[in-house]
Amino acid sequence: MSDAKYYDLVVCGGGVIGLSIAYQCVKKGWTVCVLDAGEIGKGSSWAGAGILPAGASVDALDPLEQLRALSHELHPLWAAELLESTGIDNEFRRCGGLYLARTRAERATLRANCSWWDEHGIAYEQSTIGQMSQCLAGMKSLTLVEPEAECWWVPGDCRVRNPRHLKALQKALHQLDVDLVHNTSVTGFRCENGRVQRLTCEGGRTVFGNVYCAASGAWTSALLSNVGVATGIMPVRGQMLLYKLASSAFSCVINEGHRYLVPRDDGHLLVGSCEEEVGFVAETTQEKINELHEWAEGLMPALTENRLVQSWAGLRPGSFDSYPYMGKVPGVENLFVAAGHFRHGLHWSTATGLLMQQLMFGETPDIDLEPFRVLRGNAASRV
Ligand SMILES: Cc1cc2nc3c(=O)[nH]c(=O)nc-3n(C[C@H](O)[C@H](O)[C@H](O)COP(=O)(O)OP(=O)(O)OC[C@H]3O[C@@H](n4cnc5c(N)ncnc54)[C@H](O)[C@@H]3O)c2cc1C
Repeated sequence: MSDAKYYDLVVCGGGVIGLSIAYQCVKKGWTVCVLDAGEIGKGSSWAGAGILPAGASVDALDPLEQLRALSHELHPLWAAELLESTGIDNEFRRCGGLYLARTRAERATLRANCSWWDEHGIAYEQSTIGQMSQCLAGMKSLTLVEPEAECWWVPGDCRVRNPRHLKALQKALHQLDVDLVHNTSVTGFRCENGRVQRLTCEGGRTVFGNVYCAASGAWTSALLSNVGVATGIMPVRGQMLLYKLASSAFSCVINEGHRYLVPRDDGHLLVGSCEEEVGFVAETTQEKINELHEWAEGLMPALTENRLVQSWAGLRPGSFDSYPYMGKVPGVENLFVAAGHFRHGLHWSTATGLLMQQLMFGETPDIDLEPFRVLRGNAASRV
């Protein structure tokens, strides 16, 4: 079976990265199709927490910091635009972030964070749990935190309700006539004369485009092996718990080491997470659920087991050097990659959408994409 339609852009993968690229390109006038092996917007992007840590100044020298800063600037604009066009509030909130350190190791790590914040011009202040309780409603629920625990406040941290953001993006794309194709796994790129001519999908479907973009998250390495390219993208599992309280206890994100509490406006509260290299196994384990639950209940006694409503695991697209891949596949004129955003894909998705659009339209991207090139390091090569 072959689709008669010919698109300006075919995006392989309907996570936050693929949808954001589609959004930018359709607004610039391209016809776009997004294909997803499963349900669009139900991969890592759905599983994530939606923490958007404060970005450095856009004048930062490091392209990775520029990516973070630009994304941070774009999020409120995208939230407002999506609310206006779709009526969906993605719960982008400038909520601030609280960073707790109870052990000596945590204190050492947080002091290193402070140097990093200083270096990048990110505002923060040291506080105590007592002081925080006075200024943040709901903080008194953190009764088990020792008074001597150190505590930092970063006012520029934000959050977004990622499942809502994905819904808003899909609705906006639908309104703009983008074809969103679920349950259609891309199996190969058919190349002739250094160009992809069409792509093939499970079930025999063929899709034609002028430009193609692989945005398949943790699964991108397998997809690119079709064109002889190996990248250092690998799945890194994270597990998450969801609680429901009668109302929202506090509005900021609370971090301690790699773990965090992320409130939603309606009283839901997320608890995450962990980093596990277990291949493509997106399942929770009782051990991690217990660990996260004990930590969360220890911090906030109201989070009893009967408040736990759901748990899940997601596969982050890790990359061997923690940089995402954003660029053109060398030797294939019309094939691009945007993947490997690891723990930051929800945050960096806005700038990724913009930069990939600029690149694919032949414009000079606002940020130098050289450090994110597809063939780099020992882990990335022609196979
Ligand atoms: C527990 C957890 C917490 C997180 N917390 C945060 C956070 O607080 N802030 C933050 O910024 N980031 C966070 N992240 C990371 C963030 O979720 C990811 O970096 C981001 O979602 C990656 O987006 P993506 O579009 O690349 O991948 P995905 O959302 O995984 O989308 C990839 C899509 O490609 C599809 N696909 C795969 N193979 C094919 C194929 N062959 N053909 C067609 N489609 C295919 C998949 O079905 C999937 O839908 C978290 C992740 C997890 C798991």
